[in-house]
Amino acid sequence: MEGSLTARDRVGLQDFVLLEAYTSESAFLENLRKRFHENLIYTYIGTLLVSVNPYKELGIYTKKQMDIYMGVNLFELPPHIYALADNVYRTMLTESNNHFILISGESGAGKTEASKKILQFYAVSCPSTKLMDNVRDRLLLSNPVLEAFGNAKTLKNDNSSRFGKYMDIQFDHVGGAVGGHILSYLLEKSRVVHQNHGERNFHIFYQLVEGGEEDLLRWLGLQRNCQQYSYLVQGECAKVSSINDKTDWKTVRKALTVIEFSESNVESLFAIIASVLHLGNVKFIADSRGYATLNSSPEIHWLSKLLGIPTQVIQVGLTHRKIAARSEEVLSPFTIDHAVYARDALAKAIYGRTFTWLVNMLNESLANKDSSRKTVIGLLDIYGFEVFNVNSFEQFCINYCNEKLQQLFIQLTLKSEQEEYEMEGIEWEPVPYFNNKIICDLVEEKFKGIIAVLDEECLRPGEATDMTFLEKLEEKMAGHPHFITCSELSLDHVLTIFHLQVMRQSKNAIVQLCFPTTEPDSKKRPETVATQFKSSLVGLTEILMSKEPWYVRCIKPNEGKQPGSFDDVLVRHQVKYLGLMEHLRVRRAGFAYRRRYQIFLQRYKPLCPDTWPNWKGTAAEGVQCLVKHLGFKPDEYKMGRTKIFIRHPRTLFATEDAFEVC
Ligand code: ADP
Ligand code: MG
Repeated sequence: MEGSLTARDRVGLQDFVLLEAYTSESAFLENLRKRFHENLIYTYIGTLLVSVNPYKELGIYTKKQMDIYMGVNLFELPPHIYALADNVYRTMLTESNNHFILISGESGAGKTEASKKILQFYAVSCPSTKLMDNVRDRLLLSNPVLEAFGNAKTLKNDNSSRFGKYMDIQFDHVGGAVGGHILSYLLEKSRVVHQNHGERNFHIFYQLVEGGEEDLLRWLGLQRNCQQYSYLVQGECAKVSSINDKTDWKTVRKALTVIEFSESNVESLFAIIASVLHLGNVKFIADSRGYATLNSSPEIHWLSKLLGIPTQVIQVGLTHRKIAARSEEVLSPFTIDHAVYARDALAKAIYGRTFTWLVNMLNESLANKDSSRKTVIGLLDIYGFEVFNVNSFEQFCINYCNEKLQQLFIQLTLKSEQEEYEMEGIEWEPVPYFNNKIICDLVEEKFKGIIAVLDEECLRPGEATDMTFLEKLEEKMAGHPHFITCSELSLDHVLTIFHLQVMRQSKNAIVQLCFPTTEPDSKKRPETVATQFKSSLVGLTEILMSKEPWYVRCIKPNEGKQPGSFDDVLVRHQVKYLGLMEHLRVRRAGFAYRRRYQIFLQRYKPLCPDTWPNWKGTAAEGVQCLVKHLGFKPDEYKMGRTKIFIRHPRTLFATEDAFEVC
């Protein structure tokens, strides 16, 4: 009976808003599945784009496709990430305001690919001059560099971003891309020293070892064999079939040149990467009293050479800590466990700070120095919720971040939408939704939240332990409906101050910048990582709140990275926590478009003889007269206090078409 199926039966609906059984999760899934099996990975909920990872090349990202989607209304062509990108761009130009596109979904769902597609679309479709070509190349090439240093193979994704990224693309008044700025969030530094089975360290290490030129490796004291380096083999999968480290190395090297990294910066950068590998191979043995001594003279030699720190200083630094006793400072030797812990902490700190330096360098290269007014489109590619068997501090931060973004989504979409209807006096049946503010508060509330308790505990060095922290939490959170106590939690300790002093002696230019002597050390207590993260999220929320939001929700169809396989249970779960049904209900019950009466009348008055050329009454009356004349059906629109609300965009497009004919 295949032949008798209508196109709609076969390929499903392009927009969930059109779904008859719109409250049914099963109907929603059915539509998504149908389209997925026809290689139609994109579907709208109004202007929100749902994307399902196809795990195969679909041939839908060609220049020809870009041309097709340029300058066309969102609903006139099949859903596509280009359609969304184009719509955001044109709205920005006509309304001269700022926008952001929030791309969310769990690891491996296709967020980073989506953000790259959007960037590529702008790179190709925006008007261009010689100067802008330059900016465009840098914007595009910042990606492979950031990915080399910030992405890694995990169990869920062979190219998993291990940091959150917000990127502004700046446009001038005619829509040319003239600059950019990147903010990075919470790089997963623990990966530098430890990887779970089946996972790798950051790509750049393997790229350097596999692809680095002979001369370079010799200069860095590295052998072309990942198996030699303890930090590279913990997950026992240095080689990955989907990754070609050699060619990726070439891409990164070329990108660094285009972004105008000087040769000396490139040298310093790879000296640091190599140092981390040497550091990982440093071994300790116990002396007669059980204290750590070094058993790694070649590594110390290379560390000294590459970082420009005397061997003696490194030796002492790796095996001792400095403690302040009255007026003098005393060196106290490490046990082996402490020495290993401190070595790893140093490796993480070096890598983490170098990553921050790298982002700063990219920003310098992308900065637009002229002061004329610019509008921006921000792209937010942020890690999705993560739940593992054992969840560490990083999962806590990642999930907190997602709660925060969900809160923003609720504020910007659900809440503000409903408030606007109320304000405009539009009849409206409130849509129930779960407001996760209570969960954000649990984490971040002043004095009472989890982060506040954590900070308090960090102020008691020596006394506070993981257990005392847990006890405090249990005491403070008892009775909170969303607090469930757990038995294991580990706190990341701050880098010992002695390490800072050691690193400050470095002759390596980047290390000097990363460990500046002006940094407050023992005098001022550093902020805890959790508090820093909380502040950076507050900053991000502020950036986003001032812009108009657009959403791409990415869905992972199966756990096996397989094309053509759609796991109902897995997808249903994502549809649920991405809040897609709630969003659909609000959209469906609501009105896709709204315009102030004056603006609407001004634009469309030529369509009606009574309103053209001049309407004498109030704008609202004029609009009423206009829509009667245009034959809008009563359930297609509502008249509010100051605005007309139109249920479906198609009604408006018909009006636009009539406008163009006339
Ligand atoms: P995330 O950033 O959400 O963790 P990625 O964007 O890195 O996920 O996607 C993971 C992998 O899935 C990619 O490396 C690619 O192989 C595949 N993939 C994602 N999106 C697409 C797409 N639109 N077309 C083809 N393959 C895709
Ligand atoms: Mg990613």
